[in-house]
Amino acid sequence: MINLSKPVIGEEEKKAVLDVLDSSILSQGSNIKEFEESFARYIEVKHAVATSSGTTALQAALLAHGIKKDDEVITTPFSFIATANSIIYVNAKPVFVDIEKDTFNINPDLIEEKITDKTKALLVVSLFGLTPDMDKICRIAKKHDLILIEDCAQSHGSEFKNKKAGSFGTGCFSFYPTKNMTTSEGGMITTNDEKIAETSRMIINHGSKIKYTHEILGYNFRMNSISAAIGIEQLKKLDSFNKKRIENANYLIENLKNTRIVLPKVKENYKHVFHQFAILVENREEVQKILLENNIRSDIHYPMPIFEQPLYKRLGYNIEGFNVSKEVCKKVLSIPVHPSLSKDDLDHIIKTLKSIQ
Ligand SMILES: *Cc1c(COP(=O)(O)O)cnc(C)c1O
Repeated sequence: MINLSKPVIGEEEKKAVLDVLDSSILSQGSNIKEFEESFARYIEVKHAVATSSGTTALQAALLAHGIKKDDEVITTPFSFIATANSIIYVNAKPVFVDIEKDTFNINPDLIEEKITDKTKALLVVSLFGLTPDMDKICRIAKKHDLILIEDCAQSHGSEFKNKKAGSFGTGCFSFYPTKNMTTSEGGMITTNDEKIAETSRMIINHGSKIKYTHEILGYNFRMNSISAAIGIEQLKKLDSFNKKRIENANYLIENLKNTRIVLPKVKENYKHVFHQFAILVENREEVQKILLENNIRSDIHYPMPIFEQPLYKRLGYNIEGFNVSKEVCKKVLSIPVHPSLSKDDLDHIIKTLKSIQ
């Protein structure tokens, strides 16, 4: 069976975990700081704060920026639910903007019409490993004095004009096992703003800087030391994982370009790190069925826009318009692109898809 994702764990990660277990320092050890510093260096930002997950990174980042009740945060409806939910966690309101069909990311040209005097922040996602047009996004944020938060849960190492995702605004990463690098569960906040880093650090640790002195309401969103040990080793390999993902994607694109399948396009100025290889097909159910019969797993990211989720319907979201998001949700299909695929696997995927399309 060719899986859709597979964490690549080597001897280095195994040894690092055993070293932590032998040390008896399972939490708040020095390796958290080591992981944070190496991650900040990699993203080319001044500060990184390790968290228990990508979701808690998002929640803590919104809190650190002071997003609160009745504030509006503009975001995409085409993402994993955690993106929009993090806005609800802080009692603010997600305001959705439709996406672009060729990038699957928020359409920057539709953002300004959704800005009101309650809008406080843009929460943009670099979906499937590709950033939105960050020139446009940063220009809008600056013009309207909006906080910029980047959901980089799928874009470790992705770049726009040679600048890393997570370095434009406040970055939020996830290290869930399916992502481009993993710590099992885990996350990271990245920022150049010392105050935001400091506040985030308090929020993830019960609002305290000094032990048993709690200045603000905080949470336990800390990363554990076993995860950090895995993360330090995974980060060293991230570029090689991404290189393999990009090679696999290019091979799929090259060999599927003369079919009816709509393939990912990578434009100049973008480094796409292919967290997912998402295609558009008209007959998705049939394609998925035949792939599975040929031992190839695929998945739908995502079957509906977030505002169509039962939770959001109950919250009263109006679902008029959003034609691109709705169409993409009907046709999109993720096929394997992960670093462990062999050439035989890729050829088998190509041959199977060609037999249908
Ligand atoms: C995975 C993911 C998250 C959440 O990360 P967790 O570590 O699972 O909490 C948030 N946003 C996006 C876009 C994701 O893909």
